[in-house]
Amino acid sequence: MTGPTPKPWIMEIAPYVPGRSTTDDGRKVAKLSSNENPLGTSPHARAAFATAATNLERYPDAGATELRDALAAKHGLDPARIIYGNGSDEVLHLAAGAFAGPGDEVIYVNYGFAVYNIAARRTGATPVIAPDHDYATHVDAILAAVTDRTRVVFVANPNNPTGTYAPRSEIERLHAGLRDDILLVLDHAYAEYIDGTNDDGGMALAERSSNVLVTRTFSKMYGLAAERIGWGYGAAPIIEAMHRIRLPFSITIAGTAAAVAALGDTEFVAETAAHNAKWRTWFAEEIAKLGNAGLRAIPSQANFVLVLFKGQLTAEAAYQGLMDAGYIVRWLPGQGLPHGLRITIGTAQETIGVIAALRTLVGADA
Ligand SMILES: *Cc1c(COP(=O)(O)O)cnc(C)c1O
Repeated sequence: MTGPTPKPWIMEIAPYVPGRSTTDDGRKVAKLSSNENPLGTSPHARAAFATAATNLERYPDAGATELRDALAAKHGLDPARIIYGNGSDEVLHLAAGAFAGPGDEVIYVNYGFAVYNIAARRTGATPVIAPDHDYATHVDAILAAVTDRTRVVFVANPNNPTGTYAPRSEIERLHAGLRDDILLVLDHAYAEYIDGTNDDGGMALAERSSNVLVTRTFSKMYGLAAERIGWGYGAAPIIEAMHRIRLPFSITIAGTAAAVAALGDTEFVAETAAHNAKWRTWFAEEIAKLGNAGLRAIPSQANFVLVLFKGQLTAEAAYQGLMDAGYIVRWLPGQGLPHGLRITIGTAQETIGVIAALRTLVGADA
């Protein structure tokens, strides 16, 4: 029997593999595989979400006015230049969908975020992977990969799964080297985790440029991964084009209420940022102590750390060993990282526990 034929570029997409929550034998364990907030969600967001449950029969506001106004007030932005979507994943898809198609090229860096490949291929465009520089974004390599077919460049900063961060000056240099007709997407899913307060998450660049889109999410720092609220900021013509292909009601009433309440809870954000900074530093120091066993932590500015395994203990064996010990982390052979594990910074207890388990696995305490 024959059926409809999917487009060839759709069949070239390798399905996205999400982080797991249970072990092979179905045990529920500490989930350090999806970069979620270990402190949960702002209590104000929970309360706003619960209140919104009284309103299930109505469609949400397709214009997301409440969300846009809250974001504009918080970040000093023009609300008309804000796009929103079902997680920033949808916003990334809108960017590729509006600006790339068959015959075009979409650039991202080696070990870039997995969604860029899917978002590019979905449009029929060709993904082009620029080499990394020791796991980090390499501006010159991206610029060297540009051709007259390039339409979109995706840069996650900090990057997932490597956690690496390109300084604002490097991003400015990248932007200066790109033609105006190439959309530069700065994916700032982890902007709130960057050390120091002088990084604006690329907003100033988006404010003054005709070809920059900054994307943000409520899934990580704001602890609202379940509610799927992402957004982006860019020049009006970019946003206007993306709106044309946006699903009209992709963000929900309850999710919006939770997001707006979460935005106002600066205490929860400060607490999460402090927790993450403290334990990320501690975690990296502990991995450094296992350097002679071949372990290495890539410097991270996010809420996770990529650990490389070059000694007797392989990443695959560590992945299984951690699972047996009650910790699920992310092993990423499909992203060219068979020798690495991406480990989310969890609660204090989880972070201490995962290090203890790794020390046992390498025989450090024997
Ligand atoms: C988690 C993540 C996102 C998006 O998450 P949403 O939940 O869809 O908002 C986007 N980019 C990167 C690099 C991420 O790690």
